[in-house]
Amino acid sequence: ARLPVRRALLSVSDKTGLTDLARALHEAGTELVSTGGTAKAIRDAGLPVRDVSELTGFPEMMDGRVKTLHPKVHGGLLALRDDAGHVAAMSEHGILPIDLLVVNLYPFEATVASGAGPDECIENIDIGGPAMIRAAAKNHAFVAVVTDPEDYAPLLEAIAEGGTTPTLRTRLAATAYARTAAYDAAVSAWMADHAGETAPRRRAFAGTLAQTLRYGENPHQKAAFYTTGSNRPGVATARQLQGKELSWNNINDTDAAFECVAEFDPADGPACVIVKHANPCGVAQGASPAEAWARALACDSTSAFGGIVALNMELDAETAAEIAKIFTEVVIAPSVTPEAEAIFAAKKNLRLLTTGGLPDVGAPTTSFRQVAGGFLVQDRDNGRLDPGALTVATKRKPTSSEMADLLFAWKVAKHVKSNAIVYARDGATVGVGAGQMSRVDSTRIAARKAEDMAKTLGLAESPAKGSVVASDAFFPFADGLLTAAEAGATAVIQPGGSMRDAEVIAAADEAGLAMVFTGMRHFRH
Ligand code: 5GP
Repeated sequence: ARLPVRRALLSVSDKTGLTDLARALHEAGTELVSTGGTAKAIRDAGLPVRDVSELTGFPEMMDGRVKTLHPKVHGGLLALRDDAGHVAAMSEHGILPIDLLVVNLYPFEATVASGAGPDECIENIDIGGPAMIRAAAKNHAFVAVVTDPEDYAPLLEAIAEGGTTPTLRTRLAATAYARTAAYDAAVSAWMADHAGETAPRRRAFAGTLAQTLRYGENPHQKAAFYTTGSNRPGVATARQLQGKELSWNNINDTDAAFECVAEFDPADGPACVIVKHANPCGVAQGASPAEAWARALACDSTSAFGGIVALNMELDAETAAEIAKIFTEVVIAPSVTPEAEAIFAAKKNLRLLTTGGLPDVGAPTTSFRQVAGGFLVQDRDNGRLDPGALTVATKRKPTSSEMADLLFAWKVAKHVKSNAIVYARDGATVGVGAGQMSRVDSTRIAARKAEDMAKTLGLAESPAKGSVVASDAFFPFADGLLTAAEAGATAVIQPGGSMRDAEVIAAADEAGLAMVFTGMRHFRH
């Protein structure tokens, strides 16, 4: 059932491994046919190759828009070799069978990611390539189609053993359609953005396999990491400088940490976020990155063990030396000094990632969640508070230092799973309550965390005393607010908008709290 490869058409933008492949095919007796740049590269390697224009009788034209779009090419890819009518049509029209197609597409995604203008992006939409890929993949009973240089080796192995097998051709065809689907999804997404479309729309979603992972959230789950070709600084585009391969949980948690730290503009000073199980267990600003780290760690040093650390600015030696003292899974920062890198080099397992910058947290991007049988799609929560739009609900206005902490706590609360309660003081969290089904429970847990912090650090009283508190959604009853007041919070930030706001405001006034309403909710599930 193995099929020999007598004739191959090669047309590749990414010329990685091309000449080695062409040489091996030539040595196996395969006739090579190719498009302009690909043919030149093969010829330059001293190998015989026919130009596709010789096959079609047409020159490549219109800046390469039309090269292979011709019945001599598509007939050679699509003809059923065991169908008398197809075979007759081939001989009548002088169509030669093509047994192998090697194509990789114009780099549309990379062109968009590079920030190229619309004309250049459009010119990088490959037309002939996907047409040939889809034709060859449809006809995989007879034709092998290779769209990824990683498949050159298995292809050559099969040819050395006498030809391509049905299993290999089917697998290659599935890969080929995954590639054209992802390609068209990228084009569609770009066009929709380009059109400034914001309304829900018909969109296709696809990514490109970036990495197969050892396992998923748990060891019995298979997993992989797909990227969408975005150039947004973040975990998907980061460079890993050292350490073990990232796991599923590492990638998920690193994303949570980095997106959270990106809320803090480096112009306002260093900030550090430590994440465990996708929730921040400590977030702080500081006079230096090392101080931000130390203050973030102090919030919950127990949970920080084995955590993910994100910084909003360059990782320096002082901070690296401190981080290296406790077990840390991942550190992510826009950049790292050579001295800091040298310090981490001794910690072989620690994964160090640099991103080249911070993402714009206000930029619109899409987020997905899978449910059984579908996806939920929404804009990423890029809501940012305009401090001028806050309304003071209580008799007492927050002091300026309370206000600074309220804004800080609010940014953190956006990145804590709901129900989210965050106590903060002097630009650092002192208690985080995450993911509870009842808001009052989150409020209690966060207060207890602050008491734990006092015990660990040997403080005379809970750091919740004199803190502020942020709630990601309104307090439906006064109980949560009263719990926060009992814990010692003096000011509150929350969306407002509950049926019982009047009750909650009265309780706040009675407790002498200052409370501001944001009018914006930050559920995160
Ligand atoms: P080359 O470097 O050989 O000149 O061009 C290779 C690229 O051209 C490949 O990425 C291939 O997918 C693409 N290609 C092949 N045929 C056509 C065509 O007819 N139209 C367009 N737009 N691209 C083609």
